[in-house]
Amino acid sequence: MTYQLDIQPCPEWNLFTRLQRPLVIAGPCSAESEEQLFETATLLKNNGIEVLRAGIWKPRTRPNCFEGIGMKGLPWLQHIQKTLGLKISTEVANAHHVEAALKHDIDMLWIGARSTANPFAVQEIAEALRGVDIPVFVKNPVNPDIELWIGAFERLYLRGIKKMGAIHRGFSSYNSARYRNTPQWQIPIELKRRVKQLPLFCDPSHIGGHREYIQEISQKAMDLGFDGLIVESHVHPDCALSDAAQQITPVQLKEILEHLVIREAHP
Ligand code: PEP
Ligand code: MN
Repeated sequence: MTYQLDIQPCPEWNLFTRLQRPLVIAGPCSAESEEQLFETATLLKNNGIEVLRAGIWKPRTRPNCFEGIGMKGLPWLQHIQKTLGLKISTEVANAHHVEAALKHDIDMLWIGARSTANPFAVQEIAEALRGVDIPVFVKNPVNPDIELWIGAFERLYLRGIKKMGAIHRGFSSYNSARYRNTPQWQIPIELKRRVKQLPLFCDPSHIGGHREYIQEISQKAMDLGFDGLIVESHVHPDCALSDAAQQITPVQLKEILEHLVIREAHP
């Protein structure tokens, strides 16, 4: 079946225009402190980034890890939005998160890979977003199930969300491999074939699991015609409270972006 969801572009961000490929969303895996977030955001802005990502609520695989700063990080994001003029985005996993994020004028939300695998969670988020006109990005589910991924877009769409994007972050596997999450590039390509207007972003940080892979994965995504990248960047990557090995400094990010070869997108 070919889906024709009427997904709308966001011209005010030049978000989904081919001319601006890649649109880059960057920021720390987690907001850890006001200083860490502000310093990172300032450096990102100085290096040409316009959209900040930062996890406030962190769904971790195992307990007793850093599970996010929670609500108190939202004013930090809002302060950055007001003072630095960056667009701000965070992950939501339930209706409470959505309500809190909207109260703090969040510009964009994303649904994480573990939540996409849970239709009840996606449905709850979709209900909480009813009538809200901000872009919502959906990461692929941790398992390579394209129907589950498409189902999440449909749940949002049916509640009136028209500005959507997909984030490819790779798929969990039991066997250890070069990358932390296997890309299985054919799955996002098939998604794009079936949901034609959907902007496609790549998350090289979570695919690779290590900073040394970010360049090659980003280049592969560009070669495949992806529209954008979402990259984890931290002012002091090795000190990060989550996903330290895969984070890069804003300057390293700029260098990676400068070395990307951007060819004409595939039709
Ligand atoms: C994240 O973006 O920090 C994150 C938790 O990613 P994922 O949902 O892809 O595991
Ligand atoms: Mn992360």
